[in-house]
Amino acid sequence: MLDIAIVGAGPAGLLTALRLHQQGFRPRIYESVQELKPLGVGVDIKVYGTQEIDEIGLLDEFRAISVDAEDSIFFNGYGQEIYAEKCGVHMGYLYEQRFVHRGTLQMLFYRTVLERLGADSIVLGARITGYRQDADSVTLELQHRDGRTEEVRHDAVIAADGINSAVRKQMHPESATPHYSGITMWRGVTVRKPFRGGHTILHIGDPRVSSMIIYPIADNVDGEGSQLINWVVEAERDETIEDWNQRGTVDEVLPYYDQVKIPFLDVQQLMRDAREVYLFPLIRHDPLDNWVEGRVVLLGDAAHAMYPRGGNGISQALVDARVITEKLVEYADPHEAFVAFDAERREPVNRIVMNMRGEGYEVIRRMVAERTDGKPFDDIEQVLPLAEADAIFSKYHALVGQPRPGWEAGQATGFRTWAETGVSR
Ligand SMILES: Cc1cc2nc3c(=O)[nH]c(=O)nc-3n(C[C@H](O)[C@H](O)[C@H](O)COP(=O)(O)OP(=O)(O)OC[C@H]3O[C@@H](n4cnc5c(N)ncnc54)[C@H](O)[C@@H]3O)c2cc1C
Repeated sequence: MLDIAIVGAGPAGLLTALRLHQQGFRPRIYESVQELKPLGVGVDIKVYGTQEIDEIGLLDEFRAISVDAEDSIFFNGYGQEIYAEKCGVHMGYLYEQRFVHRGTLQMLFYRTVLERLGADSIVLGARITGYRQDADSVTLELQHRDGRTEEVRHDAVIAADGINSAVRKQMHPESATPHYSGITMWRGVTVRKPFRGGHTILHIGDPRVSSMIIYPIADNVDGEGSQLINWVVEAERDETIEDWNQRGTVDEVLPYYDQVKIPFLDVQQLMRDAREVYLFPLIRHDPLDNWVEGRVVLLGDAAHAMYPRGGNGISQALVDARVITEKLVEYADPHEAFVAFDAERREPVNRIVMNMRGEGYEVIRRMVAERTDGKPFDDIEQVLPLAEADAIFSKYHALVGQPRPGWEAGQATGFRTWAETGVSR
């Protein structure tokens, strides 16, 4: 059995370890931080991501820490409704779409790795600084927190060391320079009572100015029925530090939401009451033309860092974990397995990376803003016909690998307003 090293204990590395373990492998994970903590804010797990979590036997545990997404509503910069759709099983998919705190999900995977693979399967405080390889093995160079350096040998290496991947930088030195888009995300969480029953995602604003996404990520966080509400605001700013843990404040972006009136939620108050706010710039990492070098392969954000929009970064990483395992079962030679993984995954994921740089289905808010010259409208059907919006959404869902149920048969699946989704509140 191959002796495999995984670099990074993020969601991608941990799920890969669990998938490999299901097939009898005993991988070892090297993680640079000394202690894993539940960092980050919300992530949106798509239906295909929930399926991956089910397949490693963690669906019930995942349900217990996350929120079922029932419907999704789009508003212009005045709070006028543009479009609505149901989500997950409510739309007819086999799996739920669920919202969760990134750190809580990572901790679930972490605990499960410790239970199933044992405590010695993860080496914490071990930062990989480089690698070299011969025909039979890979030597990883690592630095411990106390300054000690060490070299470890494995038959093959899966690098899941995130957006600033040291392995990617060595494999593709030319990819080391990120390009800043000029747009920054303010990512916050606020504790408050559920709005609209607590299962809705909102998309608000004129994206030419600023854009806001809001969804609940945890239930009953205070023992009194309050939820943890995740919100993200995008606006122009020259932020260049690519660090998930960089703190920010809301003052700069509050004025963009002065005019938004939504009947069931005061979005300005939501921002003002934030428990914590982080900044994260949207950075373009150019899609790579190869994820493999000999017995080393890139996976997760290390392979395909994308704008953290729409939840595809994490959900695609979960798919990577399954496919890499399938290939390592199919091919005895790790290089052949990695090449087969690259052949199956790279092009489709690179398409998603490029699509996320655009606006995905959020483009409907831009279309409405442009067609109304940024003013309120009288009749949305005259501005953006429902059939046109439906076609945009169906194309996008198919792109990320979850074609809309019923769409092929010609059934329209979107709605004009949230009152029509049938998700009664
Ligand atoms: C602290 C943090 C907070 C985040 N918050 C959010 C969020 O709020 N919303 C969102 O959409 N996405 C967030 N992400 C990114 C999200 O987790 C990923 O997009 C997605 O889950 C794919 O995960 P990944 O495992 O490939 O990468 P990551 O989640 O980035 O995990 C990479 C892991 O590798 C470790 N690592 C890095 N370099 C080395 C090295 N040289 N040697 C050993 N280990 C190394 C890191 O410490 C980390 O644990 C966050 C990532 C991090 C690290």
